[in-house]
Amino acid sequence: MKAQAVIFLGAPGAGKGTQAREMANRLGIPHVSTGDMLREAVRAGSPLPEAVRARMAAGELVTDEVVCALVEERTRRPDCANGFILDGFPRTLAQAEFVDRMLAERGQGSPLVVNLEIDRDLILKRLTGRRTCPVCGRIYNLYFNPPRRDEVCDVDGSFLLQRADDQEAAIRQRLMAYEKETQPLKAYYRERNLLRDVDGNGSRAAISDEILRLLKDP
Ligand SMILES: [Zn+2]
Repeated sequence: MKAQAVIFLGAPGAGKGTQAREMANRLGIPHVSTGDMLREAVRAGSPLPEAVRARMAAGELVTDEVVCALVEERTRRPDCANGFILDGFPRTLAQAEFVDRMLAERGQGSPLVVNLEIDRDLILKRLTGRRTCPVCGRIYNLYFNPPRRDEVCDVDGSFLLQRADDQEAAIRQRLMAYEKETQPLKAYYRERNLLRDVDGNGSRAAISDEILRLLKDP
C-alpha cells in the first residue's frame, strides 16, 4: 500500500473502531482515534495548552480547533509517514477540508474513505442487547452472546445492567444524529470518488479482509 491517510466512517455500533484498529495492526500503521486522543489529552503532561486541557477536563465542548490541532500534531510524527488511519475524524465538512489542506501541504495526496454500512436492525440489536455485569465487568449481548440464564452473569450470578444510552430511544436518536452529521461528509467524498462502501453486516474477519483488499486496490 502506498503512503495514505485512511478515514473510517461508520454509525455507532457498526464496528468502526474495531475494524480501524484491526486494519492499523494488519497494515502496520498508526490508529489515530480522536476519542482516544481526547481522553488522553485531559491527562497531565499532554502537549495541549493548560487552558485548553482545563476546559476539556471540566467537560466543556471540544472545539473544531482543538481536535484539528490534536490530529495535526499526531499525524505529523514520523510513525505516520507511511500512512495512518483516522477514526472519529473528520466529523464535519470543515474538518474534512482541514484534512485535505493538511495532506496537500505534506504532499500526501487524497485520503481514502472506508464507509462501513450496516443494517439498522443489526445495530439496534448490537446496542440495545448489550448488558454489563456490575460486579466482574463482563459484557454480554442478549442476541449474540447471551448469558446462560436470563439477564444474570454466568460468572457471579449478578443481575446484568443496561446503560441508559443503550436504550432504544437513545440509540435511535444517536443514529439519527449520526446520519445527519455524516450525510454531507459522505457526499463530499463520494463526489471526488474517494468513498468506498463496505458491507458491515458480515463476520468481523470477512469485513476486515474486504477492507484490506480495498485498501490494496482502491
Ligand atoms: Zn459478573
